[in-house]
Amino acid sequence: MIYDHILVRYGELTLKGANRKIFVNKLRANVKRSLMPLQGYKVKANRDRMYIELDEGADIDEMCNRLKKVFGIYSISPVLKIDKTVEAANEQAVQFAKDYANGDTFKIDVKRSDKNFPYDTYQLQRGIGAAVLNATKDLTVDVHNPDHNIKVEVRLDAIYVYDKTIAGLGGLPVGTGGKTLLMLSGGIDSPVAGMEVMRRGAMIEAIHFHSPPFTSEKAKEKVIELTRILASHVGPIKLHIVPFTDLQKQVNKVVHERYTMTSTRRMMMRVADKLVHEIDGHAIVNGENLGQVASQTLKSMYAINSVTSTPVLRPLLTLDKEDIVKRAKEIGTFDVSIQPYEDCCTIFTPKNPVTEPDIEKVEKYENIFDFEPLVQQAVDQIETIEISNDYQSDKDSETQTLADDLF
Ligand code: ATP
Ligand code: MG
Repeated sequence: MIYDHILVRYGELTLKGANRKIFVNKLRANVKRSLMPLQGYKVKANRDRMYIELDEGADIDEMCNRLKKVFGIYSISPVLKIDKTVEAANEQAVQFAKDYANGDTFKIDVKRSDKNFPYDTYQLQRGIGAAVLNATKDLTVDVHNPDHNIKVEVRLDAIYVYDKTIAGLGGLPVGTGGKTLLMLSGGIDSPVAGMEVMRRGAMIEAIHFHSPPFTSEKAKEKVIELTRILASHVGPIKLHIVPFTDLQKQVNKVVHERYTMTSTRRMMMRVADKLVHEIDGHAIVNGENLGQVASQTLKSMYAINSVTSTPVLRPLLTLDKEDIVKRAKEIGTFDVSIQPYEDCCTIFTPKNPVTEPDIEKVEKYENIFDFEPLVQQAVDQIETIEISNDYQSDKDSETQTLADDLF
């Protein structure tokens, strides 16, 4: 079938009342950015849906694959826009049905938002169904559980016909929810945490703590690869790589062995806190999960969290590990995450870390040495890389959006 449009249904943003325009505009910009490298299409967004008008020869499969990754899209359907006549609707439904296997079942669903169209929904449904039965041999109607569902939408401008609906990711358009700083290790959890906040419309920048020579170049490359996968959903993401060796060594020098892990995490949080202000973000995100390891007991999180007043979001807090793994597989980060690597935290992890750290104790150890200059040095020496998939930069797509705003 040669389609001439892709119909894009909005997710939750349809609930957003007066803010809807902002959400739709953002979604359109994100859709354009995701399709940017491709040719032969025009994006038309209105209040309740978006149509992507396709030129002949447009790569519809690739377009659908890209749209499936854009947050804020509930579902998409390749559609045909036809004349507003019963004959055209019959003919198109028959064209679809001719591709179905003998013995298959089908159903016709009509939606008629143009209330002036001379036939009502029921008449159309029956008429089109009869046309399909007449034109084919072994198809039968099954209204409850059909193999194929031909949908016919009679709208003001035209009739749209389609028989496939592809689920999108849902959520909200990225960029409508502010900016966060994701603490990205090479593990399974933190990339999934990043996806979760992006799904709710927040943009991310990522921070990774790297302790050469204890952690290798390979560990860094792994984090770059994970960032690339996240970027395939939203366009370029900034990855900030923090040289963490000096801080970590110093912690291990002055802090009691059982408290080094707590203190190391507190140092990470201090660095992240400084950076989040620099990038004008409003929350730190991590992959912590209640009870998973010693640093993720409530008391540990309390001790680590107490060095910052910035909100720390933990989207995976209450999930079971198997659900996190399932999500990691769905988003394609799992295979990268399970490659062996050394994390700066595990390298210095003591045999018997305290699981219920006492804040006063950790503060006492940290007061033995003035850590602030080392924290600042780590921030000053951050290496920032912008990692993209194949998307154009944000700036390009914003300019284009403003130029042809439909509102
Ligand atoms: P993950 O699978 O994300 O590594 P984890 O179960 O291994 O998580 P931890 O190693 O205890 O858990 O880390 C908890 C969280 O701390 C991580 O999810 C991540 O957000 C952050 N984190 C840990 N190590 C680093 C690192 N080297 N750089 C940046 N963030 C880190
Ligand atoms: Mg880890």
